[in-house]
Amino acid sequence: MKFDAVYYEPDSLNYPLGKQLKENYGSLPWIAIENHNAIQEMREKPNAEFARMKRNLIVGTRKTHKYTENHKVSDYLVPYTSSGCTAMCLYCYLVCNYNKCAYLRLFVNREQMLDRLIKRSKTAGRELTFEIGSNSDLVLENTITENLLYTIPRFAKEGSGRLTFPTKFHMVDSLLDLPHEGKVIFRMSVNPQPLIKRVELGTSDLKQRITAVNNMCQAGYPCGILIAPVILCENWKELYTELFEELKEGLTEKARSQLFLEIILMTYSYVHRAINGEAFPGLPDLYDKEMMTGRGRGRYCYRIEERDKAESYLRTEIKRILGDVPILYIS
Ligand code: SF4
Repeated sequence: MKFDAVYYEPDSLNYPLGKQLKENYGSLPWIAIENHNAIQEMREKPNAEFARMKRNLIVGTRKTHKYTENHKVSDYLVPYTSSGCTAMCLYCYLVCNYNKCAYLRLFVNREQMLDRLIKRSKTAGRELTFEIGSNSDLVLENTITENLLYTIPRFAKEGSGRLTFPTKFHMVDSLLDLPHEGKVIFRMSVNPQPLIKRVELGTSDLKQRITAVNNMCQAGYPCGILIAPVILCENWKELYTELFEELKEGLTEKARSQLFLEIILMTYSYVHRAINGEAFPGLPDLYDKEMMTGRGRGRYCYRIEERDKAESYLRTEIKRILGDVPILYIS
């Protein structure tokens, strides 16, 4: 991956990962900043610069470590080694939190974060599942930091319960031989390939993602698939039926037999519209005023009648094509 510059908190260079990044990206300009959350120069850039801003790496330390309760696949969302991402999915949920500053930030105090996580996992009194990838894409991040190579074997050896993270990337080869002890649940997020091309800019193709699931499953990782986010565009029924057929064709029997699904319908917002309209003027507008609620400056989601119709269609097609694969939730 090519970057233009690294913005860094000087203290980051006191950590092993900070030193490593400096070595790996030493040929780029390194620009000192006071705080990764307040880079004035970035804040002042127009929305049209969104894609170019994503070509910078931001390096700092994570200062807040509050775990948030979650009641889906995991028990807690854990702020971990990164936030933001270099890809540009037009609906990316991180844009709601970071606005146009949804670029990739790397937090180099990983030893501190994993120590804390392992301790929490062992003192919980029961086996918990910790979601460590809710703020970024850890498979993508791992290609820059090797943080999963650090995290998975250490948690497998010292932690209790499970870790999980979702991804839209296929670069899992370096994870296959890691000792994971079945303690890491890998979840691949998929969408129909025509939507990946038009809407999930900079992510891996569907075929590559399916191969990654097969390989992770073969390596013994428990695996799930997120159909997310479901986008109710003009020909959505046809597209999602094709997707389920491609999953049926492409997934190995081993993967299909242990798989679970999560399904999330797209939410969108005023902020997404404002940024996408200026940064990607030729790309589709995902806001559909007929099908979505929320017309002001807030968040938009599909109307309840549309959601019900979609849920019923997706459940029927999954059952018809993929059989009795468990659907953990549709939200
Ligand atoms: Fe956002 Fe995930 Fe897409 Fe990255 S891959 S832009 S984190 S939705």
